[in-house]
Amino acid sequence: MVTNKQVVTDKHRDLAGKLNDIKLYIDGEFVNAEENGTFENISPFTNEKINNIASGQSADIDKAVKAAKKAFKGEWGQMKQAERLNYIYKIGDLIEEHTDEIAFLESLDTGLPINQTKKQVSRSASNFRYYADTVKSQLYGEAYQVDDEFINYSIRSAVGVAGLITPWNAPFMLETWKIAPALATGNTVILKPAEWSPLTANRMAEIIDQAGLPDGVFNIVHGFGETAGDALVKHPVVQLISFTGETTTGSTIMKNGADTLKRFSMELGGKSPIIVFEDADLDRALDAATWGIFSFNGERCTANSRLYLHEDIADQFIEKLKERVANIKVGDPLDEETQVGPLIHTTHYNNVKNYLEIAAEEGCEVISGYIPEDLNRGNYVAPTILMNATNEMRVVQEEIFGPVIAVMTFRDEEEVVEKANDVRYGLAGYVWTNDIKRGHRVAQAIESGMLWVNSQNVRDLRTPFGGSKHSGIGREGGYYAFEFYTETKIIHVSINDHHIPQLGK
Ligand code: NAD
Repeated sequence: MVTNKQVVTDKHRDLAGKLNDIKLYIDGEFVNAEENGTFENISPFTNEKINNIASGQSADIDKAVKAAKKAFKGEWGQMKQAERLNYIYKIGDLIEEHTDEIAFLESLDTGLPINQTKKQVSRSASNFRYYADTVKSQLYGEAYQVDDEFINYSIRSAVGVAGLITPWNAPFMLETWKIAPALATGNTVILKPAEWSPLTANRMAEIIDQAGLPDGVFNIVHGFGETAGDALVKHPVVQLISFTGETTTGSTIMKNGADTLKRFSMELGGKSPIIVFEDADLDRALDAATWGIFSFNGERCTANSRLYLHEDIADQFIEKLKERVANIKVGDPLDEETQVGPLIHTTHYNNVKNYLEIAAEEGCEVISGYIPEDLNRGNYVAPTILMNATNEMRVVQEEIFGPVIAVMTFRDEEEVVEKANDVRYGLAGYVWTNDIKRGHRVAQAIESGMLWVNSQNVRDLRTPFGGSKHSGIGREGGYYAFEFYTETKIIHVSINDHHIPQLGK
């Protein structure tokens, strides 16, 4: 008898065999890399090859940059705003039309559960529409009346060729966060997707191709960070780099882009705290804490990976958390019922496993959930709780980026704020309390770019997104993205005969 599980598993194999190899997308065409190099794209579920990916190098980046520059100087740069934004709306519509298929590819490629990737894809469609709307309504300059002598006014224009470098953890959605504002404000784009998750990036190229954007406006160069990524960062024509990824990579990129004076947006790593006070709605806090670390397989930059529990409620909370962890459904990412899938790649799997060993060596009790036996070919790490953790441990200080939560207790507000801030990261933070004053106070005291009070990570597209400390530089999201993707120019116009010194007269 064929079981449901087997059907889904067979689907991985079938698809793996049927998917076309992936090319670069440059100047409106799908092309091989100049040197014809490829690399293998591996399934996180089977660890078998899915397909081959063209491996771009500096010659491909150069070709893409030339195409993007030409498009910027030409048709795209001169296009009326309404016409440009129609293309952006159309991309949003096409994404929505193909949501299930894109989600399917994303789960196949990354191991993220399909019921979660579907939501990410539909959010991606909204993002294009949001930026088309927002450019129309909020991309404007200012005017300054200077007595009866001048009017000064500012305008915002596209910067030019934008380099976008993205990670593998929520690839499609994170790519759209950059592509939508970059294109909507009139730039042209070269995307360098993460090498472990190329499938949906390529689907994006197909959608943009179908939407009919002029050649060269959007380009994809697949390849490795040290080759394709590096060439993009160092290219003199590329004026801005929006990067999302690890903190150490961000710092390398900033060094490498310094000679060509790049403008950077940096969305980096995190080790975010969730603080539960004794008066909180504990059931909702438990839901949020569990979702916040185990959704997206724990490969989530804003994951609440450090749980601080008030001493009075710690025991009861931990007991329920253990029950949740034991019951989380670890499974095939293509199965609608799955809550946690396999990690992206064996290298990352080994890193996360290594952290579990470090946790035990540092004195944590490591409590893990259940992985069904038939999943032994995938990169599965069970949802895990690290008990008896303390702030100075590596597993509390360093980003693990897997389904692993470190649990600690506290006695009072001052102590927990100090502990929450005692890491190099500052991306997100979550506070649970029914004391309204305390909620605001603690949220304001935590050194992070984004805080939630009595809430899981729900984000309105209008709000700024980004981190402080080692979690990032700058903000994207909402109209904040305009600061990055546009150049502000001030124009001073004399309307009277103001004084001009007459040297040498
Ligand atoms: P990574 O830094 O290894 O890679 C990210 C991208 O950078 C990839 O496309 C890679 O090829 C490229 N790259 C690597 N070296 C490069 C170089 N020298 N020059 C140019 N490009 C280079 O990150 P990852 O492992 O793909 O992603 C996980 C990390 O991303 C985690 O730290 C996570 O917290 C972070 N992240 C942050 C946010 C945020 O918004 N702050 C969101 C998602 C993920």
